[in-house]
Amino acid sequence: MKTVKVELAERSYEIIVGSNMWENLPAALKEVLRPGKVLLVSDENVFSLYGQRAIGILQEAGFKVFPAVIPPGEGSKTLYRANELYTAAIKAGLDRKTAFIALGGGVVGDLAGFAAATYLRGVDFVQIPTTLLAQVDSSVGGKVAVNHELGKNLVGAFYQPKLVWIELETLTTLPRREFLAGAAEVVKYGSALDLSLLESLEKNWPAFWEKDASFLAEVITACCRIKAEIVSQDEKEKGIRALLNFGHTVGHALEAATSYRYYLHGEAVLIGMAAAVQLALLLELLKPDEARRLLGFFARIGLKEAPASLTRSEVLAALKKDKKRSGKKSIFVLPVGPGRAGIFDNVTSSMVAAVLDRYLHEKGQGLLALDV
Ligand code: ADP
Ligand code: ZN
Repeated sequence: MKTVKVELAERSYEIIVGSNMWENLPAALKEVLRPGKVLLVSDENVFSLYGQRAIGILQEAGFKVFPAVIPPGEGSKTLYRANELYTAAIKAGLDRKTAFIALGGGVVGDLAGFAAATYLRGVDFVQIPTTLLAQVDSSVGGKVAVNHELGKNLVGAFYQPKLVWIELETLTTLPRREFLAGAAEVVKYGSALDLSLLESLEKNWPAFWEKDASFLAEVITACCRIKAEIVSQDEKEKGIRALLNFGHTVGHALEAATSYRYYLHGEAVLIGMAAAVQLALLLELLKPDEARRLLGFFARIGLKEAPASLTRSEVLAALKKDKKRSGKKSIFVLPVGPGRAGIFDNVTSSMVAAVLDRYLHEKGQGLLALDV
């Protein structure tokens, strides 16, 4: 078991990472939660795989468990589903001293966290993330939200959990496509923030690909450590936390332009990171060899092709609507070397158009190639 501390004064908490450590969960929960009732939030898939085990453990720890199971998928990240959780909590008689526990991927974590932040003006919250994406990214750092019909994550809060419990055994059942999409966020940490993680991933890629438990523990712990460090310095994303958005400007635009139905989030982010490398080359922020190294690394996962009907102007229109824009300019996180990135607002729309054309016209492969 490895522990990462997120230092946020009185809101500090631990992230525990390990394999087959279910039996240690009751003690860990008893340390952070008051005894009593808990709402266990999960989706149908995850609940059928791990729900009974989680209920058993929670009961063993002395909690009275009320399960609340939502349909799987992004479509459940709504105020409608949040309201269902409130109803379940009210009916079960959950008071201010109780807790919500999220068992699932990013959808469950974001929704349960949002509901926990708002129910009775805030009850305790624990994350048990079960996707790679949630384990390295969305469960850490306290961003919780639901989607609005006019955009993703538009209604939310910064609300830190009391504990993040990362049981690696859950990854054994995670579908390959979901695993690889989560891997894109891992690749993000290595390529934009931490050269030693990048080197370790390059060297041990087969172990990562095969979900080798000890290597996964090392990598996921490293990602959580990087994120914890950044969140401790900049909880509300006023500065360096924005570096975690590497690949996300173009990634979000691709997701939005395809109505969130075609790409998984990580798939779009990987394309966005390759686009960011090409933009960095155009701005001469990266040397060709450095760009080649990063693109070669992304190629190990491979870029998902664009849908045939997607046009450049649809993606550009989505970019213009990005909620992270400052005034009229899009903000880009661009690599400035392997394992290093910076924040730039001087990317012109013709540069973006040129890079998008490489992606849209060359089945994605154009983004992985170098002209020099
Ligand atoms: P993300 O974590 O990428 O935001 P979701 O929360 O939507 O995504 O989870 C992605 C899909 O994977 C959902 O269909 C969910 O039910 C399923 N899922 C989550 N965790 C596991 C797991 N450990 N094993 C199998 N399927 C899982
Ligand atoms: Zn992301």
